Amino acid sequence: MRHITLKTLVIILLLVMTVPVCAAVSDPAWRKARDSYDQLQKSPRKQQLRSEWERVLVQFVRYYEQNPKGVRAGEALFMAGKTLAGRYRISRVADDAWQAVAMYDRLAKDCPDSSLADDGLLLAADLLEKTLNAPEEAWLRYQRITKLFPSGDVAGQATAKLKELDRYAPRPEAAGEAEAVSPAPVAAESGTARLTGIRFWSNPGYTRVVLDLSTPARFTTNFLKADPVENLPPRLFFDITPATLDPVLKAPTIVDDGLLRRIRTGVPENGKVRVVLDLVSIGQHKVFPLNDPYRIIIDISGEKVAELKALEPSLQAPPPSVGTPPPSPTITAAQPQAKPQPEPQPEPQPAPQPAPQPAPRGDAIAKILDTVEPAPPPVIPARTAVSGLRRIVVDAGHGGKDPGAIGPNGVREKDVNLAIARKLAGKLRETLACDVVLTRDSDIYLPLEERTAIANKVGADLFISIHANAAINRQAYGIETYYLNFSKNDRAVAVAARENGTSIKEVGDLELILFDLMANSKINESSLLAAEIQKSLVEKLGERYDDVRDLGVRQGPFYVLLGATMPSVLVETAFISHTREEQRLNSRTFQEHSATAIALAVKNFALSHKLIASR
Ligand SMILES: [Zn+2]
Repeated sequence: MRHITLKTLVIILLLVMTVPVCAAVSDPAWRKARDSYDQLQKSPRKQQLRSEWERVLVQFVRYYEQNPKGVRAGEALFMAGKTLAGRYRISRVADDAWQAVAMYDRLAKDCPDSSLADDGLLLAADLLEKTLNAPEEAWLRYQRITKLFPSGDVAGQATAKLKELDRYAPRPEAAGEAEAVSPAPVAAESGTARLTGIRFWSNPGYTRVVLDLSTPARFTTNFLKADPVENLPPRLFFDITPATLDPVLKAPTIVDDGLLRRIRTGVPENGKVRVVLDLVSIGQHKVFPLNDPYRIIIDISGEKVAELKALEPSLQAPPPSVGTPPPSPTITAAQPQAKPQPEPQPEPQPAPQPAPQPAPRGDAIAKILDTVEPAPPPVIPARTAVSGLRRIVVDAGHGGKDPGAIGPNGVREKDVNLAIARKLAGKLRETLACDVVLTRDSDIYLPLEERTAIANKVGADLFISIHANAAINRQAYGIETYYLNFSKNDRAVAVAARENGTSIKEVGDLELILFDLMANSKINESSLLAAEIQKSLVEKLGERYDDVRDLGVRQGPFYVLLGATMPSVLVETAFISHTREEQRLNSRTFQEHSATAIALAVKNFALSHKLIASR
């Protein structure tokens, strides 16, 4: 704790608790989480139930995720860590302690300005040293305290600990990244992938989860139906081999968006990482890998359910299991375990049940009715009179480390795309008076899956991805506009392979995935929008330039359009591989005219669309 002593914090907390009107009225979600935590502290009976700990944990994590920039963001993660540590003290399951460590790590990483960030690291280090028998990991946290929070009031303690644990300091040749979240214990083994990140986006019709891996790895997809006997939800799980797990990912990721409850990880055996998605109901799911960096994309679609509080088994003791393996004896005596293999997490088995005395029925019903507050919807401007369009996402293809195609004279596609996208955004704002969001407004790398996810997240009405074409044949030139569908010819496959950054064979695999996703995409509107844009570009550029060739509207399996819930197109304005068109693409005038033509097309599309709708 920096600047405030622990004693002061206790006094502040007491004040907050004794003067409930102050904080309570202004922040009911926080008050509710705190109340739940306090009640749990007072009830030894409740403490025997994993579901009770989980219930409190979820409230703090969700509070943080809904207020990640709020004044209590750090405190929420700190309390989540304390809840996990508290659960460990009862369960003595090493994995619970690891989860607490991961939560404290996350606090320091996500909220470095919080006055609790260093305290969290200290608690994490203490658990690692005394409970988890991982002094090397503890040493790293103590070091992080002294480096990041040198003026904090636990810095002295951390410095003393560093001396005491000196023999566990990373050796110079292995040290390299002492600042890293974890020291990558066995990731050095060649061919072993490390699961380094779990990201997700909740969208109206589907949820996208991305698993980030350090290198390509094999994975299997498995589905388990709900198990009413064990009170388990339907689960989708992935076994990745050979792989290791970043300890930071040991804490479950709470999603709770009506489709997906949460994502959790485990290491069922050495070299195998398991990722489990607890679903709300059975829906469709699509899984595909993307390269560079290697990652696994999981799209779960279905009707969102106004979710009942059913994260955990109800308070009733489950009846004796029939034909299913008995719950594993996870409430066991404390056994300090050496990393990186804490407590293999069996599956299916989200939470050890201590088989407590059954709670009164009324209590259970109250829990089940305790509904989850939905996340606030994104703010969407009112429909404008001009077009009925409220928000358009313009996507400048490629960026950062991915230059896209490069012309014979060195013009880079990523720069051209960004220039046109920026101009297009300006024109759209001008002519349609609607909100325009750029997926990137600078030379940064943005994974393909994130681009449509942004469009879905901000509730866009249209998604337009700007690109420049390329072909091995340097004579090829012209304009073409794509929408998402099965490719009709080999050229479309080649273009999709290039834009996806995949092989032609992988495009074939993608088409299989596409088959099921089609129902959700706006293919008809997308084809109309593509036709408007293509027509406008050919006409407007044809008025000013010689040899403008119309290659027509085409369809193909583009990753960047996959999962878009609004009409979406990909525009190939000209061939950067063609000397004349490369020169044009590089000129401000051509960029300007292209942007004007596309904006005009969007306006025409919107007007005719509105016209159709109002008939
Ligand atoms: Zn491109």
